[in-house]
Amino acid sequence: MRLRNITGSREIIGESVFVVHEPERQKGNWRNIFGNNNPIHIEIGMGKGRFLMDMAKVYPSINYIGIEKYSSVLLRAIQKMEREEQPLSNVRFIRMDAETIGNVFEMEEVDRIYLNFSDPWPKDRHAKRRLPSREFLARYDKILKKEGQLEFKTDNKDLFLFALEELEPAGWKAEKISYDLHRDKDMSEGNIMTEYEEKFSSIGNPIYKYIIKR
Ligand code: SAM
Repeated sequence: MRLRNITGSREIIGESVFVVHEPERQKGNWRNIFGNNNPIHIEIGMGKGRFLMDMAKVYPSINYIGIEKYSSVLLRAIQKMEREEQPLSNVRFIRMDAETIGNVFEMEEVDRIYLNFSDPWPKDRHAKRRLPSREFLARYDKILKKEGQLEFKTDNKDLFLFALEELEPAGWKAEKISYDLHRDKDMSEGNIMTEYEEKFSSIGNPIYKYIIKR
């Protein structure tokens, strides 16, 4: 997702209290940002933040951090947050490329990672840019607690099959896999849809999901 550049988006982001500026300075201290010791769950490539904010309402005792590469998209998440009757105190946003996520979180500082409808980067030479690639799994390995899980959803079959193949070489294993999440009684229980999930499932695409750990 990349929206048209929106005039003033950098200024709005710069002034937003929901955005953590200079996130590298919080490395190892994210609990201070939230003022509690609740678990930290992050979504990488959160888009306009719908999933993250819906999760935050259902699970107020979890701290959610949404990571998004593009200012124009992050702006939409900020605007959505501002429309909430009550701002969600357990949500923060970061604008960054997840490639450098190891500069932002300390070893094992994160309790769970979500990847939702990650960009497919279909060309082989761009495989390293895919968020479920072995290169990214190595980055997640450092920041995620040893017993932590990573959840990935997509409607892109090729990307999902690629993601499954990456697990073993990267030292991860699947706990649960679904090739049709919305028809999977066990895995769809409590499922919160993302913006893309709603869009693609409404045109009949099956949704793939795995939950993995090391
Ligand atoms: N997760 C949302 C959903 O399911 O509705 C948005 C999905 S959208 C297809 C993927 C988002 O990931 C885009 O907003 C894109 O800018 C962001 N993204 C892609 N690569 C990223 C990276 N390396 N770091 C941070 N965000 C990234």
